Amino acid sequence: YHARMNSSDYWDVDVSSLWHPYTRKPAAEDTPFPLIARGKGPFLYDVDDVRYLDAISSWWCCNLGHSHPRLVAAIRRQVTELQHSILGGLSHPPAVQLAAELASLFPDSPRRVLFGSDGSSAVEAALKIAIQFWHNIGVPERRVFVSLENAYHGDTVGAASVGYVEAFHHHFDSMLFDVRRAKAPCCIGCADLSADGSCDLPCFESMRSVIEEHSDEIAGVIVEPLCQGAGGMNIYGPRYLAALAELCIERDVLLIVDEIATGMGRTGSMFAFEQADINPDIICLGKGLTGGYLPLSATVVKEGMYNTFTGTPDSKTLCHGHTFSGNPIACAAALETLKIYEEDDIVGQAERLGLVLAEEIAGLAGLPGVMNTRSLGMIGAFDTPDAAAVCRYAFEHHRMLMRPLGNVVYLMLPLIVDEELIRECVGVLREAVLAVVNEQRA
Ligand code: PMP
Repeated sequence: YHARMNSSDYWDVDVSSLWHPYTRKPAAEDTPFPLIARGKGPFLYDVDDVRYLDAISSWWCCNLGHSHPRLVAAIRRQVTELQHSILGGLSHPPAVQLAAELASLFPDSPRRVLFGSDGSSAVEAALKIAIQFWHNIGVPERRVFVSLENAYHGDTVGAASVGYVEAFHHHFDSMLFDVRRAKAPCCIGCADLSADGSCDLPCFESMRSVIEEHSDEIAGVIVEPLCQGAGGMNIYGPRYLAALAELCIERDVLLIVDEIATGMGRTGSMFAFEQADINPDIICLGKGLTGGYLPLSATVVKEGMYNTFTGTPDSKTLCHGHTFSGNPIACAAALETLKIYEEDDIVGQAERLGLVLAEEIAGLAGLPGVMNTRSLGMIGAFDTPDAAAVCRYAFEHHRMLMRPLGNVVYLMLPLIVDEELIRECVGVLREAVLAVVNEQRA
């Protein structure tokens, strides 16, 4: 199709017809957005073959880069066999195999896997499963969720209720349900951190008092493990998570970890929660589950919880699902993704590359306007007063695609990049920060 239209024709049609997510409506006179035609490895190419570096893995999901030949082949194979068939009362091999593979990745297999489409749908399912679980065992008064300030769990109504981000969700206040909110962990620049990196977890006290005061009504606690992403890459230590898991067990509260952004190797381990050596009740996966090739998410639940939904009476059944839950092509892509992870040691690579990123990002500290440099596996971030200008500079001068989060600049490169590219990217950020400061001084 794009062969028949040039990029400026597209821009006119775009401005008059397309609704871009999280994007102010472009005016006809705005600089056109790049019109992406293809991808290869960590790069995207527009219709004029200009190359861009995908420094945020296309909204944090293309962990294996673009056009991976094995993923393309796996998807092709599956399309020719079976493109769709429902999982309500039927089954198909890709879903069965993927559920088994996923369940085996967690500490206390067996677990049950409920497939969804996007991350938000995995979170909605987790919340509903938690509520119905308490109903199923005859404790319906457990119906309140606890979440962290500044959390983000998706844009659908349940996910936005637990993950309220003022700037995104304030119009919808009247639709969102009440949640008990605990203060977010604050390891970044924390004065309580002693020289050896340990502390008495003063920032856990808020969570402790919320859970202790209200445990009789709490269905579950939901957190983004080790890094609050959309809330500004608030990276925090595993000890907070370990303390939370311990308190949840003590107070019989379900722990839901939203690994949609942090899972699939992003933090240097397959799942972030592993770094805290905990065993959450419910785990939400999405984004990189298919290598970012197709929409698929999963809500992975302890078998004991699942068992309360089975057998008679029928009213214990979970009446929840989506048309494309467990779509065979998406499942085939996820199965191939897991094979590639194992054979190419993608997680080990992310851990090793994460050390390089950590060193490079730390090297930005001290630059004018750069504060709170931080990293976790293959997430690197810092605060700066005009993050948008830094990202704009990197795009205009080096074709590096990023999106600021308020005053935060971050990198979430695909996990298949090499050391050199990481150093290059951070070099671009250094140049961009200095250029922005100079411009403001001029
Ligand atoms: N949870 C987290 C932690 C996320 O980062 C996101 C997406 N950025 C979501 C949930 C929602 O996922 P989706 O956009 O696929 O609905």
